[in-house]
Amino acid sequence: MYDGLSAVYDYGQNGAELKNNIKEYWWKSMTQMNENVVGIDSAIFMHPTVWKASGHVDAFNDPLIDNKDSKKRYRADVLIEDYIEKLNDKIKKEVKKAAKRFGEQFDEQQFLETNQRVLGYKQKQKDIMAEFVTAMDAGDLERVRQLIIDLEIACPVSGSRNWTEVRQFNLMFDTKLGSVSEGANTIYLRPETAQGIFVNYLNVQKTGRMKLPFGIAQIGKAFRNEIVARQFIFRMREFEQMEMQYFVKPGEEMKYFEEWREKRLKWHHAMGINADKYRWHEHDKLAHYANAAYDIEFEFPFGFKELEGIHSRTDFDLSQHEKFSGKKIRFFDNESGESYVPYVVETSIGLDRTFLSVLSACYNEEKVGDETRVVLNIPAPLAPVKVAVLPLVKKDGLPELAREILNELKFDMNCQYEEKDSIGKRYRRQDAIGTPFCITVDNQTAEDRTVTLRHRDTMEQERVSMDKVAEIVKEKVDMKALLKKLI
Ligand code: ATP
Repeated sequence: MYDGLSAVYDYGQNGAELKNNIKEYWWKSMTQMNENVVGIDSAIFMHPTVWKASGHVDAFNDPLIDNKDSKKRYRADVLIEDYIEKLNDKIKKEVKKAAKRFGEQFDEQQFLETNQRVLGYKQKQKDIMAEFVTAMDAGDLERVRQLIIDLEIACPVSGSRNWTEVRQFNLMFDTKLGSVSEGANTIYLRPETAQGIFVNYLNVQKTGRMKLPFGIAQIGKAFRNEIVARQFIFRMREFEQMEMQYFVKPGEEMKYFEEWREKRLKWHHAMGINADKYRWHEHDKLAHYANAAYDIEFEFPFGFKELEGIHSRTDFDLSQHEKFSGKKIRFFDNESGESYVPYVVETSIGLDRTFLSVLSACYNEEKVGDETRVVLNIPAPLAPVKVAVLPLVKKDGLPELAREILNELKFDMNCQYEEKDSIGKRYRRQDAIGTPFCITVDNQTAEDRTVTLRHRDTMEQERVSMDKVAEIVKEKVDMKALLKKLI
């Protein structure tokens, strides 16, 4: 009603359900499927010193640059990354051309490793990234600007290369705690949920008598004053994160880092989305405290972009909190008799980005006869509505029978009851919101208590007993169906 704010989104009735289901899938995969991972819910407002200790006050910045003609603002790092990505497109084009030329004998791997043009592009990518990393590490923003100019990067809006200088911009939102007359304190809206986990490490470890390795998981809102807020819910100013910090004995972090990389990719693959849509990206520029970092990238409609980060963060965060709070955060290892600050392996995924990955990959338009149907092939356990119960007509006792089925199902899942419009139209509406099953009640139901069970993906219809249908549907839509794929 007020035009909204850019990069701030509301989710409607179907979106909220899908979002909750993704959360449930993640939460259970962490806290139920791992004996040594527990979940917490920490506050959004935290003591301001937390953000000093974590480095966010001084260094949670993005380098920004403006185009003087279009007045559009960009992240300098993103302009450079996009340029590098375009070189990937050029490589893909070379591969396509060669595949056509060589036909069946084409060996893509060999081509990628030996073709001079491809090697040239790859070298260029490396050189650009190296120059960018060196400039950023040195805090030399003029050099970053020069790189943009040397690469002849133009503003996508104005097409011009008339750039301002590069400046650092802190992404944290601040606000005031307490009334101004009392001398209010500046506090921040958390830009990540992870710090809530670190400051609760000792509470959880002591009260739960947790032994290393163990993990703490959390889902919650995070806020970032993003410079460039484009691409729908990919980059938001208010968003949700699902993070897990895994505390391990120093020296063992690489083992668990690999373990969590594997587990996290499996979690994505279990949803049944084409595996080619996911790829690993190793960080070229490691944060000074990290000793390994990979992203899982997803092929969004606008290209491959970060979906989840898996980072080995050493003892940086806990040590910083020891230093700034003056309180010891040590784990006493009974076996070795030592006490030490644990190392951390973290998995950090954006809920909204996961939502977008599911939505974009599962949205399909299919030809059915002369018509086109819109169908969301969402994994059944994640679907906003699990089943629609549809009486064929509004009379002859069919609505009553349909309600009888609904009343049984609604304890276990989100259902819809619909009696308006032709059955075909009703099926289409359910397809479009991804409802995996429709149960249709017709005159035969009144005679023999059987119903039609219609499957969304295949549009296949089968006749099943009205008294068994709940059982059949339940098994398919239960979160267990997804969780089972993780072991
Ligand atoms: P990017 O490079 O895209 O800005 P990031 O590296 O800053 O992301 P992290 O700080 O590692 O992201 O945050 C972990 C996860 O949180 C990301 O993988 C992403 O899924 C999600 N995320 C981060 N920023 C946003 C945002 N502005 N909107 C939506 N999700 C976000």
